[in-house]
Amino acid sequence: SGFSQFDLDERILKAIGELGWEKPTQVQEGLIPLALEGRNILARARTGSGKTAAFLLPVIQNVLQISSDNEEETGPFAVFIAPTKELAAQIFKLLTQLTSPFPFLQSINFAEMDETNVEVMLGEVVDMIVSTPGRLANAVASKPALFNNIRHVVLDEADLLLSFGYKDEMVAIKDALPKMYQSIFTSATLNEDMDDIKSMLVTGPVVSLK
Ligand code: AMP
Repeated sequence: SGFSQFDLDERILKAIGELGWEKPTQVQEGLIPLALEGRNILARARTGSGKTAAFLLPVIQNVLQISSDNEEETGPFAVFIAPTKELAAQIFKLLTQLTSPFPFLQSINFAEMDETNVEVMLGEVVDMIVSTPGRLANAVASKPALFNNIRHVVLDEADLLLSFGYKDEMVAIKDALPKMYQSIFTSATLNEDMDDIKSMLVTGPVVSLK
């Protein structure tokens, strides 16, 4: 049972093949089908579990769908938030690899730009944003409509986002998001911190994957 068990575009499957991956990891098996159904998901997952591809693949699949269904609608459609620059860089690297068959899909990583370049990028149309909370909160403060078409919000290592003291930034981000979107959160632990961030950001029922 390889990745073809999932309802993913052939070109995405080919990009996975080019990475040399033969079969999905446990978190990928659990998360990908639920995410493709549009469910809100809180997944307990550590670095090394394959969590990055678990959330990237279904989101890329859906963004591909949105951009081919509505040519007039502009992104960003998805935002991936990470607690550190290093983690943001890892997400962005895999995002770039998995979207290489789709040169029309534009992604940016605010975490690796200085504030001036973030400002410049706010004038461009992009489909997906990777960022740390500070850069993202500043970006949405200078462009309040930035999140108007967001359909997917991914928090990677969500437990660290709060323990690193990003509460104010997360509230500012939440306030700019539309009423409905899909939430996918990963966390090493599922403790009370996660209840806080869940009640703050998730817009409906949540499936927990332990
Ligand atoms: P992550 O937990 O997302 O940081 O991924 C850990 C490592 O596993 C990364 O180097 C990925 O490229 C790799 N990886 C992710 N999924 C798979 C898979 N299904 N098969 C083999 N390697 C994978």
